Amino acid sequence: MRPSVLNPLFASASGIKGIGQKLDKVLAQFLRGDATASTRVVDLLFHLPSGVVDRRFRPKIVDLPKEGIVTIEVKVGRHKPPPPFNKRLPYRVEVSDQTGSLTLVFFHAFAEHLQRSLPEGETRFISGEISWYGEEPQIAHPDHILTAEDFSRMPLIEPVYPLTAGLSPKILGRAIRSAVERLPDLSEWQDAAWKKKHGWPDFSVALKALHSPQVSEAPSITSATRLRLAYDELLANQLALSLVRGHMKRAAGRSFVGDGALQAKIIDALPYKLTGGQTFANAEIRADMASPSRMLRLLQGDVGSGKTVVALLALATAVECGAQGTFMVPTEILARQHLTSLAPLCTAAGISIAVLTGREKGKQREDILDRLAMGRIDILIGTHALFQEGVEFKNLGLVVIDEQHRFGVHQRLALQAKAGRATDLLVMTATPIPRTLALTVYGDMDVSKLTEKPAGRLPIDTRVLPLERMDEVVAGLGRSIKAGQRAYWVCPLVEESELVDLAAAEDRFKHLEQTFPGRVGLIHGRLRGPAKDAVMANFKSGALDILVSTTVIEVGVDVPEASIMVIENAERFGLAQLHQLRGRVGRGSAKSTCLLLYQEPLGPTAKARLTIMRETEDGFRIAEEDLRLRGAGEMLGTQQAGLPLFRIADLAAHGDLLAAARDDAALILARDAELKSARGEALRTLLYLFERDEAVKLLSAG
Ligand code: ADP
Ligand code: MG
Repeated sequence: MRPSVLNPLFASASGIKGIGQKLDKVLAQFLRGDATASTRVVDLLFHLPSGVVDRRFRPKIVDLPKEGIVTIEVKVGRHKPPPPFNKRLPYRVEVSDQTGSLTLVFFHAFAEHLQRSLPEGETRFISGEISWYGEEPQIAHPDHILTAEDFSRMPLIEPVYPLTAGLSPKILGRAIRSAVERLPDLSEWQDAAWKKKHGWPDFSVALKALHSPQVSEAPSITSATRLRLAYDELLANQLALSLVRGHMKRAAGRSFVGDGALQAKIIDALPYKLTGGQTFANAEIRADMASPSRMLRLLQGDVGSGKTVVALLALATAVECGAQGTFMVPTEILARQHLTSLAPLCTAAGISIAVLTGREKGKQREDILDRLAMGRIDILIGTHALFQEGVEFKNLGLVVIDEQHRFGVHQRLALQAKAGRATDLLVMTATPIPRTLALTVYGDMDVSKLTEKPAGRLPIDTRVLPLERMDEVVAGLGRSIKAGQRAYWVCPLVEESELVDLAAAEDRFKHLEQTFPGRVGLIHGRLRGPAKDAVMANFKSGALDILVSTTVIEVGVDVPEASIMVIENAERFGLAQLHQLRGRVGRGSAKSTCLLLYQEPLGPTAKARLTIMRETEDGFRIAEEDLRLRGAGEMLGTQQAGLPLFRIADLAAHGDLLAAARDDAALILARDAELKSARGEALRTLLYLFERDEAVKLLSAG
């Protein structure tokens, strides 16, 4: 249960004056990435200002500066509405003090509104940017027009917040001020000596200081105030991960010492030799599985580095020991593909393998579940469907999660909790996550890396072309196909809507089908299972030369014979996605080409992305650039889960604190594993504050 002291912070923000239903939705989308949620006070509190405006300068009119923000006390004079026949002229209002006069200028003004806020003869406080029309001072669209009473309540140093469409700075500022008033005093969770050493303020003091700045410059991202809050968030993150890890490790593992017989049969049946990296990773995994503590290992290897076979070998080890294994993948296509490619190897080794996705229903599903429960299926490949009710293994020993980055952090935590007691865990990712980021998502997971690609791979020739050159591209494609090559053609991400994406892909399919009748296939997420299989099979066998698709082929699809990748509207894709897509080619022995077609004009970020793609195939470098261009949350795909990874910490600026937070978390749990001490209690509050509730649940479960 969340400590009651936090209740005011997790209360709905709609209790705050000025936040109606409509604004609540706007804010929820903006601050939580989810318009169906409701905004809470804490969401406002964690929305930090990006700058400040200093309104303390209060000159007389005669002393007005050439430029800058001023706040003046004036008497309102004559209103001069624009002539009715020329609405493009501004509405002007004369104001004055004892030393001179000045004009307030409003374009497209609502006369009534101005008459109400600036009644002739009254005193008003005006704040805004000064400008000069020859010798005449003006303020166009003042930021504030206030009565003496309102003015007395307005902070003269005003925080400036990032905004979104439909959100006015005044309303947001006011709402956040109310939120700050609700901030309770919380017991300190940071170590006193550590806090003192860095000169950090209390949590609530820091948050208040950021929202009500007292000096004219916003505190830098590395100020004590910001660092304090960033560290709080990072500590919550690391503590949560350590708890999850501790919980899993504590649930004593099993020792799987395989005799290597099945592995040997699989390796014999492979049409190629394992790379050094694969052999080494396999040895690491075997040793880890053999140890009595539980395996929590990340297998990291760029697209095409050959992770799948390493996973199979690990699964075979479990089977050698009489246990079962499961292989979880993010898409149905990938599940079928793994089945197709692994089945012959399993047959050679006498391992029984099956697949379970949303497509298996009724009798067929029951049959699979029965055999699974009886231990007659050794390896089960599947999608999320694997973790539905009714799926019971007889003796599950190893869980492998493929393309890990497609699952959000929250899903992953839930899954780890659900994966059960004594199972080993191997997660695989093609996203070469920079070290800092890996720490935030995996904590101290053990890592195996595949650094080399299988021998004989040629570099991919990547070209960037404007869409206008489509005809040339199609003509070139014709020549390549004649020469026996096969191509993917990926259609753009138009919106977050699958239907719209689909329409674009269908149009392209028709267009290409006219030029290459009978040689083009279309695949997308809405296609029914068997139809999808048929298209994939035809492309794999060479019955089709061109596969038009939405982004469903992004992850994992493996057709080594395909050597051309065309990506339409490449400017709309993220770097990681482009890298994944390009990784679909360059897998066979033929020289591969990737054509990135873009729509002009190209924005600076899109341009940077395409340039990087042309310059390098190094997944690690691409990931680093991606982090730089996009920020952490998006990169890890956690945005799909609706939440950014961090709200306050910025890994680029606060990365150094992360290692400290990791060590701190380890120390805390070594002393107080159940967080029962007074500080432990405070740390539980911290976990709730940053919504690491899953981790706290593990604590109470013991
Ligand atoms: P990823 O790491 O992207 O999941 P895959 O496991 O799909 O990569 O492997 C990519 C391709 O490389 C597959 O066609 C696979 O059969 C092939 N492959 C894997 N290991 C080797 C190897 N040692 N030598 C040659 N080809 C290999
Ligand atoms: Mg793969």
